[in-house]
Amino acid sequence: MFSMDLIQFQRLFNKEPKYRLGQAKKALFQDLIQNWQEAATLPLSLREELNKKWPIEISAKTFVSKDKNTIKALLTLKDDLKIETVLMRHQDKRNTICVSSQVGCPLNCSFCATGKMGFKRSLDVWEIVEQVLFFARYLKKIKERVTNIVFMGMGEPFLNYQNVMGAIEILNDKEGFNLGARHFSISTVGIVEGIEKLAKEELQINLAISLHAPNNSLRSKLIPINKKYLIEIVLKAVDDYIKKTKRKVMFEYLLIKGINDSDSCAIELAKLMKKPLYFLNLILYNPTGIFKPSSSLRIKKFKEILEKEGVMVTQRYRFGEDIEAACGQLVAKDGRK
Ligand code: SAH
Repeated sequence: MFSMDLIQFQRLFNKEPKYRLGQAKKALFQDLIQNWQEAATLPLSLREELNKKWPIEISAKTFVSKDKNTIKALLTLKDDLKIETVLMRHQDKRNTICVSSQVGCPLNCSFCATGKMGFKRSLDVWEIVEQVLFFARYLKKIKERVTNIVFMGMGEPFLNYQNVMGAIEILNDKEGFNLGARHFSISTVGIVEGIEKLAKEELQINLAISLHAPNNSLRSKLIPINKKYLIEIVLKAVDDYIKKTKRKVMFEYLLIKGINDSDSCAIELAKLMKKPLYFLNLILYNPTGIFKPSSSLRIKKFKEILEKEGVMVTQRYRFGEDIEAACGQLVAKDGRK
């Protein structure tokens, strides 16, 4: 398992000829080897040294949904904490990996299972990369590839900004995993500093904002950190981001029965969302605690109101409910499984 950062990895090749690092990256990120012994281009002694100093085996347990389209991996980290990563296999051959950025989450949103488990720690760069490698290896066996990576697993990616960006850099590296920036999405509760920093990165990553309520009084009840980052402050940061990057921004809106799904919520929401390059994604709520999902009739009506107002709106398909791998269901509790 990885426990060092990229610079330390590169240091292992200091005494080697220049091309060795490239060979190692190719073996690790393109050939997707599971053990350095498989890296046929490297000398035996180097393979042995790498296995000692930088083991690449990943310890995980997997759970497959009945329809086989969702696979959840429970990864064990070096300190024995566990995190969850999900692979979603779409009909059109896209394979999306939903990665975690932290063990638990400090934000304590009232509807989210991860929030309930409390916060343990942020993940390091390699722990994020490993989640992707795990499923890249898995997909290789069936001759498929990872096509998209979304930071929508456990944790708040912008509270672990540096390591999230470090992982993206590695996965984006042409000599390595080589996944184009447009295939990454970061979902945030609206940490303004993170949105501002992302706007400055010259990278075409997608940004998603978890909105879930059309006004501050309701949003603060669902998402406590809203008291610090009020809706208008988050939207101002998003507008600046759009001005700078000219990229579309997705707003996620969970539909929770009797809480945020009324006609008046839809009308209020439409007022916020009617801007160029904003688009709204309605998400079915996965019950994990006291709340219930909205009925399909209510969702239809809610969506119609927004469409009539001219908002770009889509509805998210639900994956992996039967293995507790759907949005907000990721809780890696020791001993539960
Ligand atoms: N902290 C980040 C990313 C992790 S959550 C964020 O808040 O965006 C990814 C998405 O799943 C968020 O939109 C989150 O609000 C949503 N989510 C949380 N609990 C959920 C649940 N029980 N059902 C459906 N979506 C949920």
